[in-house]
Amino acid sequence: MTTTDSCEYLVIGAGIVGLAIARQLAITDPVARIIVVDKESAAGLHASGRNSGVLHAGFYYAPDSLKAQLTRNGNRMLREFLESKDVSIRECGKVVVASHENQLDALDELARRATANGVDVQTIDSQELAYLEPRAQTVDRALWSPTTAVADPVAVISAIAGDVEQRNVQLRFNEAVLSIESNEVTTTRTTYTATHIINCAGLYADRIATMAGLEHSYVMLPFKGLYWKANVPAGYLQRHVYPVPDPKNPFLGVHATVTVNGEIKIGPTAIPALSRENYQTLSGLHRDEIAEVLINLPKFLTSPHHDAKELIASEVPKYIKRKLVEQAALLVPDLTPKMFTHKLQPGIRAQLFDKANKRLEMDFVVKSEGQTTHVLNAVSPAWTSSLAFAEHVVAHIATR
Ligand SMILES: Cc1cc2nc3c(=O)[nH]c(=O)nc-3n(C[C@H](O)[C@H](O)[C@H](O)COP(=O)(O)OP(=O)(O)OC[C@H]3O[C@@H](n4cnc5c(N)ncnc54)[C@H](O)[C@@H]3O)c2cc1C
Repeated sequence: MTTTDSCEYLVIGAGIVGLAIARQLAITDPVARIIVVDKESAAGLHASGRNSGVLHAGFYYAPDSLKAQLTRNGNRMLREFLESKDVSIRECGKVVVASHENQLDALDELARRATANGVDVQTIDSQELAYLEPRAQTVDRALWSPTTAVADPVAVISAIAGDVEQRNVQLRFNEAVLSIESNEVTTTRTTYTATHIINCAGLYADRIATMAGLEHSYVMLPFKGLYWKANVPAGYLQRHVYPVPDPKNPFLGVHATVTVNGEIKIGPTAIPALSRENYQTLSGLHRDEIAEVLINLPKFLTSPHHDAKELIASEVPKYIKRKLVEQAALLVPDLTPKMFTHKLQPGIRAQLFDKANKRLEMDFVVKSEGQTTHVLNAVSPAWTSSLAFAEHVVAHIATR
């Protein structure tokens, strides 16, 4: 039997974006009744708890993008928040290395974007690289980002969930949203009447938007990210080591990251998944989602905007550990398959695809319709940017 309830703000999704928005609403409107619902039994069980945990600095993104505007500040805000909650951050910084001369133009473009975005990044030579990270290799030059860091995503989500509850926001788990009719949201347990509804449903944000009557031509394409952990002593690498990304695709490429405890992991891949929560080979498969992927993936493959065929051809083999390690060894030549003994839990990227334009959305997308606001493309680095992104979304809601 479903009960009824009402509130000023109903947030759908207790990932980092939903929680950060609920927090910001509580800061700006402390007397408002705010409820967050999630279909799972706890916060952050999807992307927000299954990512690389890298606090990005904000230099990858086109200067006119929301990502560029929100990541530098988001990095600072998340850092300050975690310090205030005694959550560990490892200030390891990051080097971006080129594995071929033909990547140097793209490397230099990242340095220009860093300047345009007000982010501290230095171009360094091979000797400086050897000093910063002796195990990394590059062709001619590399980038050094001192403000890139790392934290444990599970500790971060727990700190934000705790903070939100202290601000009297109610977190309600095991409640999946089933339908939205005007300002009424029906979950598996309750029918809520809300003054404003905020959709932060990650992998299902497009479907929630459709339920709410938002007209759009989007579909979420799921891309699976696999990681392997190295069986090497802590401190084997000092810095995150990243490749130069392909500017036509939204993923950063396989990288070697240092965890907050000094361990090393490589990944993630960006392999198309057959369903949105298809974490293991046969888990989370749904017929309608498989059909959706099979219909839309060919549209992506024939897109003039991306190197999709190249992306798929290079990503799919990375299911095999040896191939994944080969990619990582282009950055850190000492890495060998034997070192990687543990597969870590995978994450799935909710990547928004515009069917009409055959284009993957590269920037955050926020749309409103009536009294509903939809966060439709909270792709990386939305984890880093979450607190600044929340300020942006709440300011947008205030104009409605
Ligand atoms: C492999 C990988 C690596 C990444 N690495 C980084 C990184 O290093 N740094 C970085 O900044 N970002 C990184 N990201 C991106 C980052 O994880 C995401 O941008 C961020 O977690 C998105 O948060 P979210 O709250 O929008 O989504 P989610 O965490 O997915 O939360 C959405 C929530 O909505 C809930 N939900 C869905 N449907 C319903 C429904 N019908 N009813 C109720 N609840 C529902 C889900 O249960 C879920 O809890 C990475 C992502 C992946 C996948």
